Amino acid sequence: MGTQTDPRKVILSALEDEERVLSHELERLREGLRDSLRETSGEMTVENHPGDVGTETYEREKDLGRARYLEAQVAEVVAARHRLAAGEFGVCQACGRRIDPGRLAVRPQSALCLECEERNEGGARGWAPEETHR
Ligand SMILES: [Zn+2]
Repeated sequence: MGTQTDPRKVILSALEDEERVLSHELERLREGLRDSLRETSGEMTVENHPGDVGTETYEREKDLGRARYLEAQVAEVVAARHRLAAGEFGVCQACGRRIDPGRLAVRPQSALCLECEERNEGGARGWAPEETHR
């Protein structure tokens, strides 16, 4: 109520901006991938420039990897919006401590505190955000 800015609204709009940017890039990547698939399958029958096809395959692999990364990022933003709605925004999903506000300012979709993310990246793969202990 009143003129005071609701911090949750600020966070929500930051998340929405993030999602927009990510979705836009993802869409562009997917279009590029569709086009390159068409072009490559056309070249298959003519069988020319095998070197170029190799480079294109490499480029496509790179774009595919980027698309997968972006998809994961969008999923994180969506998950962060759910946490915001549930009143759990800014709480580390692994250890339950509050995530550093500076970190959230840079990356509002952060699901983990810096410590947990570093531990996560440090090899312990397979950590699933769904596995919250209640
Ligand atoms: Zn943590």
